[in-house]
Amino acid sequence: MKEPFFTYATETVVFDTFEQLLKGGCTRCNLSRDEVPPIVYRGNPKAKIMLVGEAPGLREVEQMKPFVGPAGELLDKIFSAIELDTNKDLFIANSVMCRPVADPDSGKQNNTPTDEQLEACAPFLENLIRIVRPKIIVACGRIALQQLKKDSKVRLGDFEGKWDTYQDIDMFTMIHPAALLHIKDYKEAYQEKKILVKEYMSSFKKVILEKGIL
Ligand code: URA
Repeated sequence: MKEPFFTYATETVVFDTFEQLLKGGCTRCNLSRDEVPPIVYRGNPKAKIMLVGEAPGLREVEQMKPFVGPAGELLDKIFSAIELDTNKDLFIANSVMCRPVADPDSGKQNNTPTDEQLEACAPFLENLIRIVRPKIIVACGRIALQQLKKDSKVRLGDFEGKWDTYQDIDMFTMIHPAALLHIKDYKEAYQEKKILVKEYMSSFKKVILEKGIL
């Protein structure tokens, strides 16, 4: 594995340089495509809460920002229900910054990032975390949790709705909104999960208020 381009930074100004660097392209894994630079973030680089998702999809490539498709819309709703604005109160990035486009014959739009792709992108995410210096990290979904814990065996069910740490930063794990959308047609399961998510997101809000994060 090659060294990351960038090893340490603390100022927001350096963050812009980071984005510029990535715009120059990356060839660390087979997701790189000349016509689409890595998609780095949306939201507020000065936010105290950083949310990490899985990977950009089609809509994210169109707009060059994470979480702007249907999953992003639901994510916005989940946070607005606890009176947080994802563009103001959060800094949002992904575990991999390029879209894992699925084979058109597979019937899917996107693939789940592979271990190799996750490993190749991990230094970027680690550097982003160092640059943004969030007080709270939200692992959004299984892939983000595994990427942040550097362990592809951890199970979302063991962490969802709970607090843990990423290095010395408090980390909270939530369901990926796409997973909620997947069960939408199973009315009972969807309702049950929605109640659970609502409960743990309210407790998340309570804790961040207690910590004086907002
Ligand atoms: N869009 C993103 O940017 N990330 C995800 O994890 C899902 C959708």
